[in-house]
Amino acid sequence: MAEVTVVSEEEPASRASAGAPPDLLSLHESIAGLLATQGDWRRAYQHLQSALDIARAGNLRDTLTSSYNRRYLDQRLHGLVTQQGARPGLGIALVDLDLFKRVNDTYGHLVGDRVLREVAVLLQEGLPPEGFCARYGGEEFVLVLPDVDAARAVLIADSARDRIARHPWSRFCPGLSVTISVGLAHEAGTESARPAEPERQLRCADNLLYVAKRAGRNKVAYRDQESHRVITHSE
Ligand code: GH3
Ligand code: MG
Ligand code: MG
Repeated sequence: MAEVTVVSEEEPASRASAGAPPDLLSLHESIAGLLATQGDWRRAYQHLQSALDIARAGNLRDTLTSSYNRRYLDQRLHGLVTQQGARPGLGIALVDLDLFKRVNDTYGHLVGDRVLREVAVLLQEGLPPEGFCARYGGEEFVLVLPDVDAARAVLIADSARDRIARHPWSRFCPGLSVTISVGLAHEAGTESARPAEPERQLRCADNLLYVAKRAGRNKVAYRDQESHRVITHSE
């Protein structure tokens, strides 16, 4: 019986990339089928396991931007609710691209898609070790910032806003510019390890996002911890 040469056999399953193209999944599946016809069940199983890892990772990613998707966000927020132990705080920032419909209308949907992919990359820069960015839907993203105090959360959100505003978008298309508005809700950690309430925080971030929009866009809106006043931050 012919031997099957398995190219990526030694690669551990955990190295399967979340952004891996779907044909890698098919490749593992096909190799598993071939190995199974040879009766090599152990190696067939390993390839099916790799295929499963790739499928699982892809299930938590947004297909357009490769950033985490809403399913991943919901899972992680649930994890934060049930997490035990005192935490320094949790920041949740809701990010919305400004006047994005106009970008599509002016430059076309393909450019709009490219902008969304680039924004996802720029949002992921400068996140704390436990932080992540997820596409919430449409032209909206969520930054989850665990274990940061309020001042640091504002700094991270405003750096993201500034990074996107300063990005050389006109290299994509002459005349193109892109900005975001951000609603940032921060919950301080407590000694008593009271569980955070990320769902409520997300609603709060949504309200603050509208404040940022009404204030003229390209702004971060948050509630000051001491004065409890809503601040809109921009250059
Ligand atoms: P605002 O500053 O008030 O948020 O204005 P806006 O134009 O960004 O908001 P609006 O809700 O009117 O439009 C959002 C646009 O985002 C419309 C929709 O076509 C576009 N959009 C949503 N998802 C995608 C996508 O995956 N690709 C592209 N190209 N456009 C998308
Ligand atoms: Mg929107
Ligand atoms: Mg928008």
